[in-house]
Amino acid sequence: MAIKQNAVCRYCRRYGMKLYLKGQKCYTEKCPFERRPFPPGQHGRTKRFVRLSNYGVRLFEKQKLKKFYFMREEQFRRFFEMALRAPGNTGNKFIELLERRLDNVVFRAGFALSRRNARQLVSHGKIKVNGKKVDIPSYLVDIGDEIELVEKELMPQSPIIKPPSWIEVSYDEAKAKIIRLPERKDLDLKIDENLIVEFYSR
Ligand code: SF4
Repeated sequence: MAIKQNAVCRYCRRYGMKLYLKGQKCYTEKCPFERRPFPPGQHGRTKRFVRLSNYGVRLFEKQKLKKFYFMREEQFRRFFEMALRAPGNTGNKFIELLERRLDNVVFRAGFALSRRNARQLVSHGKIKVNGKKVDIPSYLVDIGDEIELVEKELMPQSPIIKPPSWIEVSYDEAKAKIIRLPERKDLDLKIDENLIVEFYSR
């Protein structure tokens, strides 16, 4: 089921962090999380102190990361299983794989103001990778890949998100290049991925 557009700000408030799901509004003082950084609802101000069960804590963390990448459960789970099969720390690998999604890269490069907008750009054929149109949001970018926004007029007027150090961006050309693969330590993300590994391993 599609995630309702007008309800997405509730997720930021529920999970206690800005998820940047709305686009331009996220960068202004109209952002509801800036004004009310506590869970929604009549008892929102006190809810944050409710103690969750062990299962609830792990579920909460999983849902938070899933909303951060604006994904559905089946896709999210598929990425987790890819991370499980990869060598190294599963939690770190999971986040690194999510970062390499083409829709995330388009957002991180500043070609879209939210991951939702980035996904639309990809699925509507507005993004090329190495000169070829790629319309699969879950496409995994690799070192050396060149990502291009085909219709430059779609570029946000003022890219607000600073690109991470693993992406080199030329706004004039509407192009980005992957200069190295992302690592967990690149992200300032308040998520305990070990709890998510435990959730799916139960
Ligand atoms: Fe809404 Fe964006 Fe603010 Fe989240 S960050 S509360 S999606 S405006």
